[in-house]
Amino acid sequence: MAVERTLSIIKPDATNRNLTGKINAKFEDAGLRIIAQKRIQLTKDQAGAFYAVHKERPFFDELTSFMASAPVVVQVLEGEGAIAKNREVMGATNPADAAPGTIRAEFAESVGENSVHGSDAPETAAEEISFFFSGLELVG
Ligand code: UDP
Ligand code: MG
Repeated sequence: MAVERTLSIIKPDATNRNLTGKINAKFEDAGLRIIAQKRIQLTKDQAGAFYAVHKERPFFDELTSFMASAPVVVQVLEGEGAIAKNREVMGATNPADAAPGTIRAEFAESVGENSVHGSDAPETAAEEISFFFSGLELVG
């Protein structure tokens, strides 16, 4: 399997509860390398641009308000099959459906406030990485 890069976000519910280190340990234990990372606070408009694919969904307003409500940690994870591996470590969107041991099973508060974002395919990973990082900031 090829080495890939994927975009991860530690969401406001998790930064509020001081869970950045515990979540990063889950990535590193799974063999994912954090090759870029920064803590930022998004505006609601920036959150809306990032989640533009969901703009017609009923949860869009709530989602973008939540993502702008407190700092997030944006990061690039690298490893063999990193996109699918990260989705595995994250667990299902709804924590009620997330497998034991996954980030969302252990830490998520609800389907909306679910602690992490992860890219879902190679094309979206490339787009989402370039939304937050320049090539100079990626040190693999
Ligand atoms: N979301 C929500 N309600 C829903 C579905 C999704 O609030 O019914 C939020 C949730 O924070 C989720 C994000 O919208 O992580 C993006 O949804 P997606 O279906 O892409 O889930 P993900 O890829 O994050 O698992
Ligand atoms: Mg998604």
